[in-house]
Amino acid sequence: MLSPSRGPERLVRAGQWTIAVLFAWFLIQVGASLIADLPLLSRAPQISQYRQESALRTVQERIEPLQEQRQRLQVEVNELTRRRGVAQENLSRERQSFETWRAARAVTAQSDQNPEVLQRARQLDALLEQERQLAEQQRQLEQRLRALEARMEPLQRQRSDLERRGELAYARALSRHQWIAFLIRLGFVLPVLALSVHLFRRHRGGEQWPFVWGFLLFALFAFFVELVPYLPSFGAYIRYGIGALLTYLGGRALMGWLRAYLQRKQSEQQAPQEERLQQIRYEKALQSLARRQCPSCERSLAGANAPLPDYCMHCGLRIQTHCQRCEHHHPAFYPYCSACGAATELAELAVAAGSTQGSEPSQA
Ligand SMILES: [Zn+2]
Ligand SMILES: [Zn+2]
Repeated sequence: MLSPSRGPERLVRAGQWTIAVLFAWFLIQVGASLIADLPLLSRAPQISQYRQESALRTVQERIEPLQEQRQRLQVEVNELTRRRGVAQENLSRERQSFETWRAARAVTAQSDQNPEVLQRARQLDALLEQERQLAEQQRQLEQRLRALEARMEPLQRQRSDLERRGELAYARALSRHQWIAFLIRLGFVLPVLALSVHLFRRHRGGEQWPFVWGFLLFALFAFFVELVPYLPSFGAYIRYGIGALLTYLGGRALMGWLRAYLQRKQSEQQAPQEERLQQIRYEKALQSLARRQCPSCERSLAGANAPLPDYCMHCGLRIQTHCQRCEHHHPAFYPYCSACGAATELAELAVAAGSTQGSEPSQA
């Protein structure tokens, strides 16, 4: 199929796109360095700035020896508990064995006043006394432990108070910092975005289009990368709210474009054939014909191998014509007959209008 643009034109177009991307890239670098150098943005608050460090240290210094003391006491209590457990076990074993032994003696009817019985009873008493002493020691230790904990408690409360106040002040400072950072970024990005939209609407088809497109890419990057992630979060309300707003605006823009497109096509169809042919850009016409589409209404004209019709069956645009000199049948967009080289009606009209082929991007 026919390629619509001249060889060098394609190279130049690729170069222009490279320039657009490079231009955007350099602008992005400049913007990023600018934002990184702002002192307000680079210095985030630290939690240590908002805690009363000296007061905290004083409290900590008073708590630490108490904590050590408590640890030592706890070890002692544990040791005593263990020893008391052993003593209790010994006692109950001894008591059981004594009962069994005495029952056996009762059966054999021996006297309870036997010195052997007295000796075993004393042994049992000693064990009982030992267990009692251990219990008393344990009780005293536990009392000391409780007294110690009672002394520690206000200090610990004071410490957690200090910490909580520090954290609150830090959270407030952090939120303020985030807002300031966001507003500064907004102050940079909004004018850039507004300017890029203005340039894009006015000048995207002009000779300077690579710079307009480069600037637009820069503005989009600034908005989505430099601004949106820094949006302070209010439980995601703002983020999703802005997302909904953007979607709505995008949807409206899309529908507006579609309406304008259909209106343009309709008014194009009402113009006379010569005017319609002249209004369609040459490259655009060749591209459409290569895709077997009508260059005006952009609907399909024929299958891949079927010949093109003389007129578009959808909108009535003249597609094929006959040479006025040799009667050769050729597409109506050719400025010269492909059989005899005679200038066609279209070429004459173009010369009369002094039309120039701009170098705007293919999307425009
Ligand atoms: Zn058509
Ligand atoms: Zn001819």
